[in-house]
Amino acid sequence: MNKKKETELYLHIPFCMKKCGYCDFLSFVADEKMQETYVGALIRELDFYGTKYKDRLFTTVYIGGGTPSWLSEEAIARIMEKVRECFLLSDDAEVTIECNPGTVTEQKLLTYRKAGINRLSIGLQSAHNKELQILGRIHTWEQFLKTYDLARGSGYSNINIDLMSSLPGQTPELFADSLKKVLRLRPEHISAYSLIIEKGTPFYDRYRFDAVRQQAGLPTESLPTEEEEYETVKLTQQILQEAGYRWYEVSNFALPGRECRHNIGYWKRTDYLGVGLGAASLIDNIRYSNTADIYDYLKQCGQIREGLFENTAEDGTVSEVPAVNFHASAEALSRNAQMEEFMFLGLRMVDGVLRSDFEEAFGISVEAAYGEVIEHLKAEGLLKKMEGRIFLTERGMDVSNFALAQFLH
Ligand code: SF4
Repeated sequence: MNKKKETELYLHIPFCMKKCGYCDFLSFVADEKMQETYVGALIRELDFYGTKYKDRLFTTVYIGGGTPSWLSEEAIARIMEKVRECFLLSDDAEVTIECNPGTVTEQKLLTYRKAGINRLSIGLQSAHNKELQILGRIHTWEQFLKTYDLARGSGYSNINIDLMSSLPGQTPELFADSLKKVLRLRPEHISAYSLIIEKGTPFYDRYRFDAVRQQAGLPTESLPTEEEEYETVKLTQQILQEAGYRWYEVSNFALPGRECRHNIGYWKRTDYLGVGLGAASLIDNIRYSNTADIYDYLKQCGQIREGLFENTAEDGTVSEVPAVNFHASAEALSRNAQMEEFMFLGLRMVDGVLRSDFEEAFGISVEAAYGEVIEHLKAEGLLKKMEGRIFLTERGMDVSNFALAQFLH
């Protein structure tokens, strides 16, 4: 019997009750009618792909956003029912939904569980109300605690909590305090990202000059200095590892066996299908991206058509790539681009990449493709080879942006 190709499913819910000051994700406020119309379109898209990819085995589902938990529980139940009807999910599929405190009720959590959702990712960001206010979050620490209690009470045994460091006015000790408060709850997984000042956000208007000073290693006004950022990252690794969490990716920590399988799939370049506004997919080494225009998306989901897209390769060759009408882009990745991604994404994981996986994927050894870069990074003490694996050292992880960029030509 043919082995079914393992694939991951991502569903994008682009709605939030209020936009946070730092956020550049594809999300916006929308009334109930728009939410309902969107769910209808999403379900049509799921129907379309269900027929197209019925020979694949879906190992993870991730409902992200936006704030998926802002949708009604009926909407999530309908979506999940459609997912199960259209796709073959593995028996042990990891099914995650992102939740924001202040939008979650016990009823919602119970409905999610009934619908087969077995993992929650809760956006907390900070355990200090003052910082939550600065970020423009809709919730308080106390509301988060209530959400967390409800989640445990509803039987969830796989919970991630998102935290954010490098906030204006935040010292390493303040972040460590957030971390310790969260640790008392013993979630299975913690993601700890640094704030990035993105163009087009209110934070960009407020802090962009400070962000430049921070990156240049100069004294800052509101944002932590570069040294404080470094201290925070090190403190985070230390506190979480001492508490028994495994540091498994640049910004992610988990209790043993509770690593996020969906994200590991991204880093290992497993095929994934992204459904919804602006969602990206990687299918058979073609990268697709859905339109980010809500009106185009709603209109085109009503009459999904397949066609051919013009694809211009790095060397200027033009070919045709199969795509559907609401894809804003479809790009067939060159072999070179695939190899770059393999290294660039794989080395984000603390365990790094397996030499045998590279050889199996590309038919040549990793040294034949990247021998010079590997030797250079090794000589700098940023990378190591051991037992068939290649991985960044702790020093390499400290400067991961620099180290990973060496694999991009
Ligand atoms: S809740 Fe998340 S997606 Fe929504 S605005 Fe805030 S950061 Fe952005």
